[in-house]
Amino acid sequence: MHEMSITQGLLNMALEHAGGRRITSIHLRVGRMSPVVPSSVELFFEYLSKGTLAEGAALHWEMQPVEMTCTDCGRQADLSEWADDAPQMLMARALARGCACGSRRLRVTGGVAFGMASIEVADDG
Ligand SMILES: [Zn+2]
Repeated sequence: MHEMSITQGLLNMALEHAGGRRITSIHLRVGRMSPVVPSSVELFFEYLSKGTLAEGAALHWEMQPVEMTCTDCGRQADLSEWADDAPQMLMARALARGCACGSRRLRVTGGVAFGMASIEVADDG
């Protein structure tokens, strides 16, 4: 993953949404399975936003849990007991246990995305 280009894309999107107003904060959603590293995005954002209307904006991160769904019965697996485990470990455990219907065909259906949820802009500009 190239965090720099991801961050540039994010910045462009935020500036477009702001429509010429100054951005004070950006809310992001990142899945626990997403390869995006928040600390890298923070660093690139600070660098890339210099001189733009997003300079100094705070980034708020909302972590999205991993979701797995049974491909046989469509039930969503309850992964809450492993929520604090590393995503790969959580997946391995979920696959080992399988679904309540007896199937072991679970597929990741959530927690992989990265995106902007909303932005906040200043009233002064
Ligand atoms: Zn099932």
